[in-house]
Amino acid sequence: MSDRPLRVAVVGSGPAGFYAAGALLAAGVPVEVDLLERLPTPWGLVRLGVAPDHPKIKSVSRAFEKIAERPGFRFLGNIEVGRDLHHADLARLYDAVVYSVGAQTDRRMDIPGEDLPGSWAATELVAWYNGHPDYQGLDFELGRARRVVVVGAGNVALDVVRMLALTPEELDPTDTTDAAIAAICGADIEEIVMVARRGPAQAAFTTPELSELGELAGADVIVDAGELEGAEPKDTNAERNLAVLQDYASRPAQGKAKRILLRFFRSPTAILGEERVEGVELVRNELDENLRAVATGERETLGCELVFRSVGYRGVALPELPFDERTGTIPNDRGRVLAPDGEPVPGVYCAGWIKRGPSGVIGTNKKDATETVELLLEDAGAGRLEPKPDATAAAVDALLAERGVRVVEYAGWAAIDAAERATGEKLGRPRVKLCTWDELLAAAEGVSTPSR
Ligand code: NAP
Repeated sequence: MSDRPLRVAVVGSGPAGFYAAGALLAAGVPVEVDLLERLPTPWGLVRLGVAPDHPKIKSVSRAFEKIAERPGFRFLGNIEVGRDLHHADLARLYDAVVYSVGAQTDRRMDIPGEDLPGSWAATELVAWYNGHPDYQGLDFELGRARRVVVVGAGNVALDVVRMLALTPEELDPTDTTDAAIAAICGADIEEIVMVARRGPAQAAFTTPELSELGELAGADVIVDAGELEGAEPKDTNAERNLAVLQDYASRPAQGKAKRILLRFFRSPTAILGEERVEGVELVRNELDENLRAVATGERETLGCELVFRSVGYRGVALPELPFDERTGTIPNDRGRVLAPDGEPVPGVYCAGWIKRGPSGVIGTNKKDATETVELLLEDAGAGRLEPKPDATAAAVDALLAERGVRVVEYAGWAAIDAAERATGEKLGRPRVKLCTWDELLAAAEGVSTPSR
């Protein structure tokens, strides 16, 4: 192996994938990285998850662009592992494979009525307003909604609450899709209720995100001071959250068009409705000594037309790879994938949410991916990777061509990026996203699409 560079496939081009590629290419050993991605576009949740009104958070993509410029890096988009290439192919064509596929689905509440029309995963709305090409056909029927209930108290719940409350002036300068801007601005939502199962001191959201709610032009934030009484914050974030919540509780409502209610100690026990969502049944909770929510018998019904559950993401098993159903992650030791017997699978690694679960901020993935890459390089240096006579870029390209895959390389993504930015610039927006597969592939392949 010493007479040629180490060849590594990284599967999934979100933050964990880019940071893994970056760590490999900065390690000072000869290495080639193919970053494989199912979509024609890179950056994972930075493009398709981070709220469009958070351009500063999205600007981490500049660091990914720098990584992509390094010699030895290739982006191979529009390739689905499990369909176009299989793990067995990767195991043959690369010295090592790093899976950084994130958490592809959402957690469920497992309550009656969860599948009624009008009951959605928050992640579906997020993917839709961010222009994910697989979610553009969804119709949330926002026009029917007067009250929307968002279940959960994490940052995704706050993103959804906030996005639904933004005014046209707040939405216009963002890269939210035109369809989403039209639907949100055209809706007559009066009230958005965030329902947290535990108390204000246990909320998962972070203070800057909570504080933003108080700055919205078109929505008052309403908190019941009684729900804050006796709260015992256990860390600085909780302390700061509590201070912001106390401020909200003391503010007189200013009669803005929308009201955001933050309610604590409530769990939905059923989503109600015949044909579609008509309300939620909530039970009041108390906390036990381990700070877990325990239902009291006290119930109430809250009428609403839409429910978004925002109770966490969940990883999905990859064919041919071990998977822990309980945690929704690939069993691993610091990123070395473990077989059912507990032994490392030679040459197979993981990073990011599929390694540790859906937690932390974007930067958390840097440390996480670096840890994985250090072990990978240690294994390579110690001769623990199997010899791979077929591990060449030409062999990968030949197999993809044989299978008729329309690979989108980095230049293809650069063409998509340039087209989106050019349209955005004319409108004073960071970009206007192409959000169908046809538009994306046509732009990547240099085929002109009808101008807007
Ligand atoms: P999260 O932070 O894990 O929050 C999940 C929330 O759902 C928690 O409040 C949790 O309450 C609640 N929950 C779980 N199961 C529930 C159930 N059965 N019924 C009612 N509530 C339930 O997850 P997330 O909001 O999806 O965010 C994922 C990660 O991305 C987080 O690390 C987040 O910080 C990050 N993120 C960051 C930003 C940002 O920085 N701006 C934006 C979006 C996402 P319990 O605490 O009681 O379990």
